[in-house]
Amino acid sequence: MKFKKLLSLTFLFVIFSCATTFRYSTFPKEYLTKTSREIHENFWGQESMIFGYLMENTQFQTPIFHFKSGQDGPIVLILGGTHGNEPAGFEAAHRLLEQFSKSSLKKGQIFIIPEANKLADYNQNRRIPVPKGVDIEFGNLNRCYPGNPDGLPMEQVAYEITQLIKKQKVNLFLDLHESPVFHMEQKSKTSEYHGLGQTLIYTPNEKAAWLGMVVIDFLNDQIPPGNKQFSMIENPIKHSAAWSAGINFNIPGFTVETCKKLPLEERVRYQMDVVNVMLKEMGMI
Ligand SMILES: [Zn+2]
Repeated sequence: MKFKKLLSLTFLFVIFSCATTFRYSTFPKEYLTKTSREIHENFWGQESMIFGYLMENTQFQTPIFHFKSGQDGPIVLILGGTHGNEPAGFEAAHRLLEQFSKSSLKKGQIFIIPEANKLADYNQNRRIPVPKGVDIEFGNLNRCYPGNPDGLPMEQVAYEITQLIKKQKVNLFLDLHESPVFHMEQKSKTSEYHGLGQTLIYTPNEKAAWLGMVVIDFLNDQIPPGNKQFSMIENPIKHSAAWSAGINFNIPGFTVETCKKLPLEERVRYQMDVVNVMLKEMGMI
């Protein structure tokens, strides 16, 4: 009898360990730093902080975290991991999760999706593959807004994000990215795509121009003159998140770009500073 009990306990233990291992081995941990990996492991099962999922019950399923103050105020949406080869964005989003869970907001609400294109993040790729003959940019989440519920996976993700903005009445949208080259060192117009490091890209509206300037002033006050200084760029590329926020919702929307030539932790700090300066300016923290 005793032996049988021991056997069944061992059996249960093995099943439990396998289940736990499976849960955590389904994502390749190497794409995250140790700090963010620990945050990931702590937060991804925290149903109380999870508002819902994008692409629920598909291989693209990714959590939408939600932090609310209980007071009326701005409603902010932050995306990390739109591009999987731009780690400062999803690293900062993980760190922000921890920050928001530890200190409560003064007013308003924050939605945060740290791994918007989870599979691209796992593989550290800019896009996910598309069917043969289809424009590769349909695998690039930041070219698919406002999205299409019946389209390819990234069009569906963009559509669900657009619906979230609409239904939750989001009034500030931040999408965290990186670029290989400093904007200040970019010489030729033909290399424009690569020369966006250390910029805030926005669709011009009064609120966006103001918030952007507050952030740029704050950051550049602490950065010596040179390539690391931040600039503002108007008119994000068509069908990007920041473009859609401005064009379709007339809310401030920013593509936040750090430069990949800098050390990762420095880039993560800039990303977090951008978010925190804006939240502070809006009286949320
Ligand atoms: Zn990007």
